[in-house]
Amino acid sequence: MSDNIVILGSGESGMGAASLAAKRGYETFLSDNGKISPPDKKELKSLGISCEEGKHSPDKILAAGLIVKSPGIPESVPVIQQAIGKGIPVISEIEFAFRHVSDKARVIAITGTNGKTTTTLIIHHLLKTAGLNAALAGNVGYSFAKKVAEKDYDYYVVEVSSFQLDGIVRFKPDVAILLNITPDHLDRYQNDFNAYVASKFRITENLTSDECFIYCSDDLVISDELSRRKVESCLFAISATMRNIKENGAFIDQEHLIFNFNFKNTERQHRIPISEIKLIGRHNMINIMAGVLSALVFDVSIDRIIKGLKSFKNAPHRLEFVEEINGVEFINDSKATNVESVYYALDGISKPIIWIAGGIDKGNDYSRIRELVGEKVKGIVCLGKDNRAIVDFFSPSSIDISETKSMKEAIRVSLNWSKPGDVVLLSPACASFDLFSNYEDRGDQFKTEVRSIGKNILETA
Ligand code: ADP
Repeated sequence: MSDNIVILGSGESGMGAASLAAKRGYETFLSDNGKISPPDKKELKSLGISCEEGKHSPDKILAAGLIVKSPGIPESVPVIQQAIGKGIPVISEIEFAFRHVSDKARVIAITGTNGKTTTTLIIHHLLKTAGLNAALAGNVGYSFAKKVAEKDYDYYVVEVSSFQLDGIVRFKPDVAILLNITPDHLDRYQNDFNAYVASKFRITENLTSDECFIYCSDDLVISDELSRRKVESCLFAISATMRNIKENGAFIDQEHLIFNFNFKNTERQHRIPISEIKLIGRHNMINIMAGVLSALVFDVSIDRIIKGLKSFKNAPHRLEFVEEINGVEFINDSKATNVESVYYALDGISKPIIWIAGGIDKGNDYSRIRELVGEKVKGIVCLGKDNRAIVDFFSPSSIDISETKSMKEAIRVSLNWSKPGDVVLLSPACASFDLFSNYEDRGDQFKTEVRSIGKNILETA
């Protein structure tokens, strides 16, 4: 009875799955134990899909031939456990979407703890500027299922989370990318880091020698795990630290990115000057290398790739240059909600830094950035309701530390401390919900305040 589908969750992926299921003629029911928004209810009605909210009714759900589970719902939810017990297949939305892409379409899937959105955007941009009919899907923008329902694309560039990978069966991208693995979301993996690693590695589980696996070999968790597994695909290693990589992949050689590309009887080497690339930071070089290799897999010429890189603009709040005021650069990296991201931000900036950090600390270990902070940061401006973790870790030291409770105050202190040639960096290492509605709100407030100060200074000059 797999033509009877139940979708759990009415978020972006649930609604995408609903629209795809309806388009493919399945009898579909959607259940959300929270609220379903009025526009979503309207859409479901127009798709002819019945739904329920505020509960998961076992009689309806356990009558399914197939359950598509949204990534936000853990597998431990009782009704899912009951369904699994009854032998009803429970899959993720990306698995469902993948089963419905046309045979000739190519799928590029990007995962990792950090850098997924940036890399997904880079690859989509490179394919689009090369004139290819490519869809951008996943966490960034619309769900994979929604894009498959919309029309037939030739390429789907999909940002994929570990929760989505937990529910795959046949999902087999033509290019699979694994950027990095650091502890995150461990609450969903019984605090077992190995379980999280295994989940990320599921991106490789169906690959054959016809597909490519691009991974960051600087990441010891990835290289370790890879040495213990047999991944059947063509492997591309990317590295921002090792020089003279002989193997298939990409690396940095002083002022260039070097690509050794050897796949399906095509062997090429390319060099791209780093000066052609607008993004800041070593982590972004990893993202770019993954993007360029993906474009090469689909025969995009290196000239077109370079042209695409020149016109690429990253999503906001990721090391985003805001403005220069009196010789001080302001950079918004509000998306950096963990220590790893801050590491890359500090590492990528060569000027003295006034670092705005703080918010809700999810148990950060700041020792990873102790050295970099000592080397590059001249002042720490804490921005949060409870700044004890940062203050305790970084004091006593020669670095000035101040505590603030609003963006306005944080920027005022930063400006007072700064000299021409400095950078004021908002890269919080923490979630934003104590003072802001989300990281976007935090970054937007930063940009608004900085621009208004810039405007005032200009008007009074
Ligand atoms: P995601 O979608 O995985 O959350 P983003 O592309 O939105 O990733 O970037 C989030 C943050 O992660 C950025 O602000 C940046 O500081 C950091 N980051 C980006 N790329 C990488 C990378 N390759 N390795 C480590 N950190 C990265």
